[in-house]
Amino acid sequence: MASVLVINSGSSSFKYQLIDADSEQRLASGLVERIGETTGHATHDTSDGHWERSLGIPDHTAGFGVMIDAFAEHGPSLEEHPPVAVGHRVVHGGARFFEPTLITPLVLINIEDLSELAPLHNPANVEGIRAAQAAFPDLPHVAVFDTAFHQTMPADAYTYGLEASLAERLRIRRYGFHGTSHEFVSRAAADFVGRPLAELKQIVLHLGNGASVCAVDGGRSVDTSMGFTPLEGLVMGTRTGDIDPAVLLYLQRKTRIGVDDLDDLLNKKSGILGLSGHRDMRDLTRAAASGDETSRLALGVYVRRVKRYVGAYLAELGGADLIVFTAGIGENSSVVRERSLAGMQSLGIEIDSNRNAMPNDGPRIISTDASVVTVLVVPTNEELEIARQTLRVAE
Ligand code: AMP
Repeated sequence: MASVLVINSGSSSFKYQLIDADSEQRLASGLVERIGETTGHATHDTSDGHWERSLGIPDHTAGFGVMIDAFAEHGPSLEEHPPVAVGHRVVHGGARFFEPTLITPLVLINIEDLSELAPLHNPANVEGIRAAQAAFPDLPHVAVFDTAFHQTMPADAYTYGLEASLAERLRIRRYGFHGTSHEFVSRAAADFVGRPLAELKQIVLHLGNGASVCAVDGGRSVDTSMGFTPLEGLVMGTRTGDIDPAVLLYLQRKTRIGVDDLDDLLNKKSGILGLSGHRDMRDLTRAAASGDETSRLALGVYVRRVKRYVGAYLAELGGADLIVFTAGIGENSSVVRERSLAGMQSLGIEIDSNRNAMPNDGPRIISTDASVVTVLVVPTNEELEIARQTLRVAE
């Protein structure tokens, strides 16, 4: 019973999933966190139960030891479900990586080199890859890049209106992120409506803690709302999304705010958190429903930005066949879905309130039968997409 091990590594933690290669069932998942702190923490989940352990985990290599112990103690047995490959989520593939890639020493150097563009993420991904290679030296390791799906964007979509030679020298362009999710969801949506991916124009709304929109034409990303970094585009849990860059100049001149504090402000203290004090959409919609004015405004700002991108991508694509909501907010918040697409009947978009309000685990249609554009909710599964792409490369 062959399996694939999927690793998503951060600087002081990593998540893992063991996925059956044939049935695509998740056999186990876990989180090893607080690596490098006095007391680390590990969780391991299988269909039989949930386990937790607190212990010192000095580095990622020790973390992989903890993970292997968890499999040995709580199952499933790695002998009975031997991993045939390890898939790694890598945030930034720059303009170099446009597909899942077998990790050779040269590829690892290239991923490290891209740390300049993703200083928080790529070094952590590299650390996870090194530790996983030490733990599973005989297996192929494959990098699946968050940016890769968007490498099909045309130059006029990824180029900023910035002085060209400077942009080229410093590799400043739009890259886009959440690619594995946009790819998985756009294919799952096509499967669900039973139409060939190649024939469909889709707008995929990945609304989670981080959030981005993708215009998908025939299965290829042609534009997306995140750019050089995951800060551009939608208003998010704690990120501003699009903002006039002159505001940053003004802030620097007026308050002398330093670069790190500015980074913190834009990425961690803004978005719906900065507007309302709520970073979680559940809290925000509850507060807004109870009449709290700042929460109502924050929700209004959030959904208007989503709508603006839907309008932009309808124009870019020349209409859409499908609009697809996914991720934590997209899959669960009927309020956000309804308000984001409200008043767009003249553009062929009409949500059915009853269908929208019905909770459901799998993919489902929430538009009316009369709606020209079919609106869907499709759960994302980035780990499964990484496992599939990993197998394609490793086989
Ligand atoms: P993700 O990054 O995809 O895991 O999404 C996480 C976010 O989804 C959370 O921070 C919440 O804001 C949001 N979320 C999860 N469940 C719900 C829900 N039932 N209603 C509204 N938002 C939700």
